[in-house]
Parts: sequence; C-alpha cells; structure tokens
Amino acid sequence: MNILLIGSGGRESAFAWKLTQSPQCEKLFIAPGNAGTGQFGTNVDLKVTDFEGIKAFVLANGINLVLVGPEEPLVKGIHDFFLDDEQLKSIPVIGPQREAAQLEGSKDFSKQFMQRHNIPTAASRTFTRDTLQDGLTYLATQGLPIVLKADGLAAGKGVLICLSLQEAQQELVEMLTEAKFGEASSKVVVEQFLQGIELSVFVLTDGNSYKILPEAKDYKRIGEGDTGLNTGGMGSVSPVPFADAAFMQKVEERIVIPTVEGLKQEGIPYKGFIFIGLMNCDGDPYTIEYNCRMGDPETESVLPRIESDLVDLLMGVAEGNLVEKQFSISPKIAATVVCVAGGYPGEYLKDKVISGLDNVRGSIAFHAGTGMQGDDVITTGGRVLAITSLQDDLFTALQQSTLDASRIYYDGKYFRKDIGFDLL
Ligand code: AMP
Repeated sequence: MNILLIGSGGRESAFAWKLTQSPQCEKLFIAPGNAGTGQFGTNVDLKVTDFEGIKAFVLANGINLVLVGPEEPLVKGIHDFFLDDEQLKSIPVIGPQREAAQLEGSKDFSKQFMQRHNIPTAASRTFTRDTLQDGLTYLATQGLPIVLKADGLAAGKGVLICLSLQEAQQELVEMLTEAKFGEASSKVVVEQFLQGIELSVFVLTDGNSYKILPEAKDYKRIGEGDTGLNTGGMGSVSPVPFADAAFMQKVEERIVIPTVEGLKQEGIPYKGFIFIGLMNCDGDPYTIEYNCRMGDPETESVLPRIESDLVDLLMGVAEGNLVEKQFSISPKIAATVVCVAGGYPGEYLKDKVISGLDNVRGSIAFHAGTGMQGDDVITTGGRVLAITSLQDDLFTALQQSTLDASRIYYDGKYFRKDIGFDLL
C-alpha cells in the first residue's frame, strides 16, 4: 500500500515511524515532512492546504490511503475535497470531513454538541458583537476565574483565563469589537472555570465503533514547574497514573460513547482520530475541548505504546470494520521531552546545525522543526525534536528521555528537565 501522510511536525514523525513498521506499508510519502520523516519515506514539497497539488500527487503516485496529521486541512475540508472528486473519491482519507472537524474549528459548535448529548462540560454561553451588552452583564453574574474562548482556530492562543471581572469584560470587548483574534473571535464562548487535573484521551473511530488509544498528559508551559508562557507543548507522558480503570470507564460511558453515538445520530460521518481534552474534577471527567486529530507532543508518547499494526487499524477505519481489528496497548510507560529553539515561544533562533543525533541510544528522536541544509540537519521551527523513551517504569522513562535530550546539540537548545516529575 502507498500511503500519503500530510503534515510536518513531531506528530507526523511519530506516524511515519509507526506506519513504516507495518508490512502493509509499501511506500510512504510525507507532505511536506521534515528532516526526520525523510528517514522513513519520501518528503514531498507540498503545502498541507494545497489540495490541487495533493490531488495531482496522489493520482501520479498510486496513493491508496491518506492520513491527515494537522487540523487546518481538515477544517478546510480536505476529506470533502476527495469525496467530491470523481478520481479521488475511492481513496480513503483518515481525518473527519469539514462538518465534523467543526468540533475543533468552532468552540460554539462543540459546546452545543456536548449540551445536546449530555456530555459533561463546563457551563457556558456564547456571545457575538450584537450581544456584547448581554455578555458584559452575564460576566458580572459569574464566579472567578472565568474562561473566555475565541470560537474559531486561533493557533492555540484563543483561550483566556481571567482573574477579575474588569479583565474579563475588557477582554470580551477586545475580542468581539477589536477582533483580538481576528475572525476567530467574532464569537466568544464564556465558560465556567474547572478546577482539576488535565489529561488527553484519544479515540480512533470509523463512525460506528471505536478504539480508545492510550491517554496522555502534556506539559504546555515553557518553564519548569509549569511556569511562563504557553507553548505548543514541551513534553508528554503516557499512561497517566490517575486515569485508572474506574476513571477511564467514566470517560468511556459519559464522554466517548455519547460523542461517537451523537455524531452518528446527527448523521455526521467521522472517520479518524478524536482528541478529547479532559479535566479530572474530583474523580469525574469533564470535557474541555475536542480536537479533530491527534495531539502533538502526545502522539509521540501514545503511538509507541500501541502494539498493533497502525495501517491495519486505519484500514479498519476506512472500510468501516474497525471493530474486527486486533488492538493491544503496551503496559510500558512512554515519556517525551521536547527540545525547542532558543527564544521560543517568542521570536526564536533558526537554521542552527543540529549534532549529536547519533548519540541518542535509549530513546527515539522524533523530528519536528528540522530541515536539511546540504548534509546538515538544521533547526527550522520552534519545537525542534521530541525525544521519547519507552520503559518499564515512569522514572526510568523520564530519566532516559531527559538524558537523551541532553545528548543533542544546537545553538540555543532548551528543554524542560521536569517533564512528568509531578506524576512520580
Ligand atoms: P482549549 O483550547 O479549550 O483546550 O483551552 C486551552 C487550555 O485552557 C486548556 O488546555 C486548559 O488548560 C485551559 N482551559 C480551557 N477551558 C478551561 C476551563 N473551563 N477551566 C479551566 N481551564 C480551562
């Protein structure tokens, strides 16, 4: 089977690593990929939203399966583009169609969906420019802190946790009337603050049945002790100790089943991954958000724990017989430490030569923001490498991935040395 993987981050490196372990994967192409994905297949110089370019490539290279990594092409309708095209419609795409991708593309859509299907989530109301006054009054009736969320995609920056009424009201005005997050904040969801511990749960579905993949915890802040600015993610750990069987049963019964059934009842087809961001509030799970794809850097901890053939599972999604597929999860512990560029998440250094990749022994170095310059591997993005170690216990996994992260060199390199230590 010839597979096209769309994306270029650490998540896609992990997918490329896992896909090529399958005897069913004959050729793998990655568009556009990075220096690391080039070790597993052929990188193709195409933008993830260049649907016409992707079509020409798929037809010219006999692609049998397309796996979409990031949300942007999904929200822009890459799956619908394939289904609407006579030549492409028989080629399966893993990733939801545009309507279902609204679970991530619109916070208002996802909140309404959760409310319709009694899926536990924080109480909320949505406001627009026309209802700004109602929004300001509503804020005055709510407790603090309070959460304001831009409705649309805002590159992970559209959520504000406000500590005072004055701050919340000012932010609401800026979001709705001054387009603080552009078009994404033309609608704002105002949501009750949930106190608890977060985790991410991943589901693979063919629209009828589902498999719950290993859960993970990610570390968003740049600084040790979870301080400083938010990032795309500085590390992840799977499994999450507090997500025991009793908690995961609640997640399945209260969230996963109503989500898959809700989509089915509403006639919304969904073939792909669902990422459920959860808050564990005193042992009860509440949904914070849906994403219509796998998370990054969670994928780098989740995929190494899946023992089954990923291509087989994806074919189960494509053909609607996922329920029949063999699925097993390793009891081992995966820990991922992300090495970032100097300055990140602000303006950061680029084009720095990376050395020491061969020194990584007990971990996998998944490339994220890397590229080739002649024979050198160089940094091209803020998050550069995701170093994952799979071990029998959490401490060894953390120690190994941290050790291997320290064996790599480039000017300005930074990584957190405390990933996962709160779980020990
Ligand atoms: P989201 O994009 O909806 O996942 O929000 C980004 C982050 O904001 C989440 O990962 C949480 O840490 C935090 N957050 C979002 N909603 C809430 C909430 N209702 N209560 C507490 N924290 C929240």
